[in-house]
Amino acid sequence: MQRRALLSISAAAAVLPWRAFAAAKIKPDELSALIVVDVQNCFVTGGTLPVAKGEEVVPVINKLAKAFDNIVLTQDWHTAGHASFASTYAGKKPFETTKLSYGTQVLWPDHCVQGTQDAALHKDLDVPKAQIIVRKGFHQHVDSYSAFEEADRKTPTGLAGYLKQRGIKRVFVTGLATDFCVAWTAMDARKLGFETYVIEDATRGIDLNGSLATAWKQMTAKGVKRIQSTDIEIAV
Ligand SMILES: [Zn+2]
Repeated sequence: MQRRALLSISAAAAVLPWRAFAAAKIKPDELSALIVVDVQNCFVTGGTLPVAKGEEVVPVINKLAKAFDNIVLTQDWHTAGHASFASTYAGKKPFETTKLSYGTQVLWPDHCVQGTQDAALHKDLDVPKAQIIVRKGFHQHVDSYSAFEEADRKTPTGLAGYLKQRGIKRVFVTGLATDFCVAWTAMDARKLGFETYVIEDATRGIDLNGSLATAWKQMTAKGVKRIQSTDIEIAV
């Protein structure tokens, strides 16, 4: 009986085209946007808050960008003495936490200060089609991991309005860092009703006390789809 079943499966395989067995690739259309989160000097090797191997996302994003007509860049863009910096508080060290008016805030080394070379986009990022740069974290007393909404969870950045006015339905999130700005951006995108993908190999994480695994668990629970850059159809 088992042998017969195996034979019938292989017979079916022989008549179906090979593509039926290969995962179909996703072809970004005019309703899709690529969101490139915080690919800045501060978050790569040599920066003030380097994500391990953060620079490795650059060639992956450059290649992906060829498949998208709609591209959004974000930039972490803090004031000096920002509320998210450990140096702002006497006796606090980076990666400790503090309580701010909107909840617990991780404290970071000073990073991505407005107008500095550290806050500039990575020099090899090659996405000439990008149409808008959303800067975030510029309010002195509020951090902003998400490209959509600041950490007080009530101040919008305006990106949702921009994407909706342009008719975008699907967003593909890439960049740094997976477990903070990418994850918060992706989860907010879901909350706002966008079909949301995170392209894993176009991101790198900080992984602070298991934060990377937690972020993936939370994103998956909210319906964010986890894909690889090879899942996207890129015309050559
Ligand atoms: Zn920041």
